[in-house]
Amino acid sequence: MGVIHSSPLSLSPFTTAIRITGSSVFPCTSKANPERVINSPFNHTNNICLPNLLKPTKKFGSFSHLSHISTCLGSKTVPFKCFGKVREMETQEGIFQKTLIDFHGIDEELIQKMVYDALVWCSLHGLVVGDKSVQRSGKVPGVGLVHAPFALLPMAFPESHWNLACEVAPIFNELIDRVSLDGKFLQEALSRTKKVDAFTSGLLDIHSKMLEINKKEEIRLGLHRSDYMLDEKTKLLLQIELNTISSSFAGLSCRVSELHRSLLNYYGEHIGLDPRRIPGNASVDKFAEALAKACTEYNRPRALVMVVVQPEERNMYDQHWLCAELKDRYPFNLLYKIDEEGEILPDGTLLVGGKEISVVYFRAGYAPTDYPSEAEWRARLLMEQSSAVKCPSISYQLAGTKKIQQELAKPNMLERFLDNKEDIAKLRKCFAGLWSLEDSDIIKKAIERPDLFVMKPQREGGGNNIYNDDVRTNLVRLQKEGTQEDAAYILMQRIFPAVSLTFLVREGICHKDHAVSELGVYGAYLRNKEKVIVNEQCGYLVRTKVSSSNEGGVAAGFAVLDSIYLN
Ligand code: ADP
Ligand code: MG
Repeated sequence: MGVIHSSPLSLSPFTTAIRITGSSVFPCTSKANPERVINSPFNHTNNICLPNLLKPTKKFGSFSHLSHISTCLGSKTVPFKCFGKVREMETQEGIFQKTLIDFHGIDEELIQKMVYDALVWCSLHGLVVGDKSVQRSGKVPGVGLVHAPFALLPMAFPESHWNLACEVAPIFNELIDRVSLDGKFLQEALSRTKKVDAFTSGLLDIHSKMLEINKKEEIRLGLHRSDYMLDEKTKLLLQIELNTISSSFAGLSCRVSELHRSLLNYYGEHIGLDPRRIPGNASVDKFAEALAKACTEYNRPRALVMVVVQPEERNMYDQHWLCAELKDRYPFNLLYKIDEEGEILPDGTLLVGGKEISVVYFRAGYAPTDYPSEAEWRARLLMEQSSAVKCPSISYQLAGTKKIQQELAKPNMLERFLDNKEDIAKLRKCFAGLWSLEDSDIIKKAIERPDLFVMKPQREGGGNNIYNDDVRTNLVRLQKEGTQEDAAYILMQRIFPAVSLTFLVREGICHKDHAVSELGVYGAYLRNKEKVIVNEQCGYLVRTKVSSSNEGGVAAGFAVLDSIYLN
């Protein structure tokens, strides 16, 4: 059963599908929750012990032994000895403030108290997700909530790299907008992929139809997230990918920064960390503001924002935070429940259940499973044809594909879309090695050293990439077969971020492990014809995962939400 629902204010639990032709719209897997990954490293038996405990048998789960401590422990009773240190290391650029906070000396009892307080904080402040052990937790809000997995302390991160990631956010926004306007480029760059990838082909078909009717998107809204890893060897901040559809966790990530600030306000002195070094994170406010401004530009006060979601979504509170922010701050109309057909009036107005839609905000529609039948494709086409603001439009979505990322990394490509040379240089510095599988030299290298590459299909949502020996196996197979299937993939340089010991907390259990982190910087872009109304960095997300894991899904059980500590 698919769900589309419409409300600037809230996501209704009871919403049902818009029926375009009697079928439902957008069911299936969650971007933040790919079902396919089941081997969580957190399930391993040695992962439930307290950090530094000599007897690795006690679970952190029940906390009954901590209940007397409560949240207000006084420093008198705790043998604080630790202290978060930020190490320095030499690089080409001189002294490099290290990315590791040294937790080795932190007192175990203190960690327990911090974990307890953090869990209380999450529960009181809505840093929550649906609990997968509760059947209805992805459907009914308020049923089966569990704290979102989180890192106990923020990841240390060099301020210069943080500044760079913020600086390039508006440039990437602009780049996506420019690329989206070049329909011919998008079609050509993806033409080989189209032949072998039915999903990309479906998106391109809608895009072609828009080109045929010369459809112009006057109001263009992008809510993006550019993801990076800091390569340890080169000390370069390298882009993993740029998400232009369903950029998730804006609603929760700002709360993780608050959680860390709250912990450091209380414990910071004892562990030598200053809460002011956690940068402000207004992700949810900024995204809500951009959505609201898009409504203002659309300029029909009674029209609604429609949020397109998957029928089961354990990350629903992330979405609800965004909708709640809209509701609290902006006086838009509200439609809680729809079970009606969508239609377009001759002037392009999109009606759903008889209500006019100003903005369609997609938190679904990025994966093949979101389109189980032709009906979902027809629904997407209908929305695209309308004059409602689409976040994203089909061309924004295509501009965010991995194939386009790889095309844009080719020499002189950025110059085709951007004018400012300094901006171009800044973006280029963030590009990792990216290649098409038509490049035989790179194929040869990747077969020799598959560990240095990641092979990526045109998919979003995690769990789709190919690593290590599987890269070799697949490349050899594709070579042998000699089909066009190679066009479904790109090759990317594997980035190796610094590994550090981290406290990861999931389902009430704290686990110390070696971990690596990925920084995502949100960006919002809103334009009405020639006027750029919003183009800014909108806060950040950090996901930290155990270093033995290739992929980094939070809901999938590999990664936890985190924030940064500038040094
Ligand atoms: P998706 O669209 O599925 O999120 P990504 O390109 O973001 O695809 O890859 C998923 C995850 O795989 C990333 O979050 C990151 O943890 C890991 N990853 C992707 N590309 C690389 C790379 N070049 N080097 C190291 N890890 C990578
Ligand atoms: Mg990703």
